[in-house]
Amino acid sequence: MPEKLRPQLYGILGHPVAHSLSPAMHNAAFSHLRIEACYVPFDVTDVKAAIQAVRTLGIRGVSITVPHKISIMPHLDHIDNTAQKIGAVNTVVNRDGELTGTNTDGIGAIRALSKAGSLKEKRIVVIGAGGAARAIGFGVQSVGGKVIIVNRTIDRGRKLAEDLGCDFVPLNEIAGVDANIIVNATTVGMHPDSEKSPIPSECLKPGIVVMDAVYSPLRTRLLKEAEARGCMTINGLYMLIYQGAAQFEIWTGEKAPVEFMLGAAKDKIEDR
Ligand code: NAP
Repeated sequence: MPEKLRPQLYGILGHPVAHSLSPAMHNAAFSHLRIEACYVPFDVTDVKAAIQAVRTLGIRGVSITVPHKISIMPHLDHIDNTAQKIGAVNTVVNRDGELTGTNTDGIGAIRALSKAGSLKEKRIVVIGAGGAARAIGFGVQSVGGKVIIVNRTIDRGRKLAEDLGCDFVPLNEIAGVDANIIVNATTVGMHPDSEKSPIPSECLKPGIVVMDAVYSPLRTRLLKEAEARGCMTINGLYMLIYQGAAQFEIWTGEKAPVEFMLGAAKDKIEDR
């Protein structure tokens, strides 16, 4: 089929994906900019076959989510520097059948945190050492933030801190760390364990900025306690929207209509 007649198809590969907010936000962006394209959730377990289908069907781009962010890497033609450093891919671009993997979680975190001003020289505590923490750590470091990794499992935390060339502090010693910004990049506080917080509320000093990567629920216990103690808070939906906006810009070359994407994601959350 001639390229210009091909339907512009995009999607998300994951398992499960039924509750993903990505179709709502990307379809809202296509619709707002009158781009004839459609973004579809694909619940897949066989990632190799799914990637072959992306090539065969001429799907222009896909988001990659849990549990495929690492397992997809050997099946792609190229992995860019950002995804290589993070060690995970959340975005695939299809250019004439050549698939390139990148990662926009870091840029999503930078843009979300920038709501609080410049990150340069700020002391940014990242709690966690998994995929989200790696992306956030490399992201904020790339714009001059001073990262401190805090994690429950010492070996894993030390390894990430070593890769970043930054300090590591065990989670049970977080009270002694001086921070301008604290980011939760663990799964603690996520539905259905929403009564939990990764750190004691006494660590939340008035005036600091607290961001949670968790977006279900939107107001996590950590963010509620941070608000009560006079901190500025940023919920995980902003990181999600900005990582999606960065994907949209890579795929289409158009500036993403962030407000519309945010509105569509919020509507989807309210419909649940
Ligand atoms: P992951 O790779 O599984 O890493 C999980 C991290 O959570 C590890 O550091 C783990 O510590 C820590 N953890 C788990 N249970 C804990 C507990 N009870 N106490 C202390 N630490 C605990 O997960 P991920 O992919 O990085 O995702 C982390 C979170 O970020 C998830 O909620 C995900 O939904 C969210 N996320 C959000 C966005 C967004 O756009 N908003 C993007 C990506 C991810 P150990 O090393 O000690 O096990």
